[in-house]
Amino acid sequence: MATIYSAKKIEKILEKIDASMLGENVAIKVHFGEKGCTTYLSPKVVHKVFDKVVSLGKKATLVECNVLYKGSRTNSTDHLKTAQEHGFDRPIEILDGEEGQEYTLVKGCKLGKGIKKFDSLIVLTHFKGHMMAGFGGSLKNIGMGLASRAGKLQMHANIKPSVSDECIGCGVCIEHCNAKAITLVDGKAVIDKDKCEGCAMCIALCSTGAISVPWGSENPQGLQNKIANYASAVLTLFPKAVFINVLENITKDCDCMDFEQKPIMEDQGILCGTDIVAVDKASLDLANKSSGGKFNKINAINKDKQIEFAEKLKLGTSKYNLIEL
Ligand code: SF4
Ligand code: SF4
Repeated sequence: MATIYSAKKIEKILEKIDASMLGENVAIKVHFGEKGCTTYLSPKVVHKVFDKVVSLGKKATLVECNVLYKGSRTNSTDHLKTAQEHGFDRPIEILDGEEGQEYTLVKGCKLGKGIKKFDSLIVLTHFKGHMMAGFGGSLKNIGMGLASRAGKLQMHANIKPSVSDECIGCGVCIEHCNAKAITLVDGKAVIDKDKCEGCAMCIALCSTGAISVPWGSENPQGLQNKIANYASAVLTLFPKAVFINVLENITKDCDCMDFEQKPIMEDQGILCGTDIVAVDKASLDLANKSSGGKFNKINAINKDKQIEFAEKLKLGTSKYNLIEL
């Protein structure tokens, strides 16, 4: 049975973290929120976690990877600007290179290359709903969040990207496709699905948004399993990891949405533990209990499937003892 701590304030949670739980070079995985999102993780909470790590005599860095879609966090330059505009002012490293193209292969998963330089991990997560995975907790924060762009495409889609009529034939995607999978036919780009290696670079570079991710090609269960597989790959790199789920501003959809969302329930405080399955399960149970089952009904996806699959992968246990601080 795992021990999970619960508190209203981050300071109480931080009292439970000591130097022995971390290495010397600590990555703090966060999500800075897409431009337009207003309910992302509080920078004040993030800074307190960062400062605690530094006070223990460790090096700390906020880490993230670029996103798959076109937005304010598609490349590292824009991503850092968005983070700064959202109030994050501690050292940040985007782990998968300027265009999200740099990855390291771990257990078949394409993780942001920079992750390998760290020796321990704090996963600091805004807990909320997610339209395709049901909910976003610690598993999703590292499973999806530490994947390079190619890894994200691998999880989200079973088929390759395609080009819409919005293509203006500029040729930028052709120039940057290392697989030489794109040609211009009658003034429009065409992707050879057999040659395409799924790196997703063309999606990031196309200025008209003509190349899209085939979002619906993976079903929710498949996506949840892939997220857990990716989380498993990440955790093989980190024997020392701490998971903190912040149950504040709990929204129906995730922080990748570029618009304002209203919280769907009261804030529930912060949960913390060293077992990723238990911390997500405890968060899910708390959100459900406090909302009278409303959280479970959002997005019409069986959220327990993510937990069950992660437990099957032996990432942790769904049985926990909740201690209120
Ligand atoms: S980058 Fe976009 S607009 Fe330009 S050729 Fe490729 S698909 Fe068409
Ligand atoms: S996803 Fe990568 S390999 Fe496939 S067409 Fe786009 S740039 Fe080429």
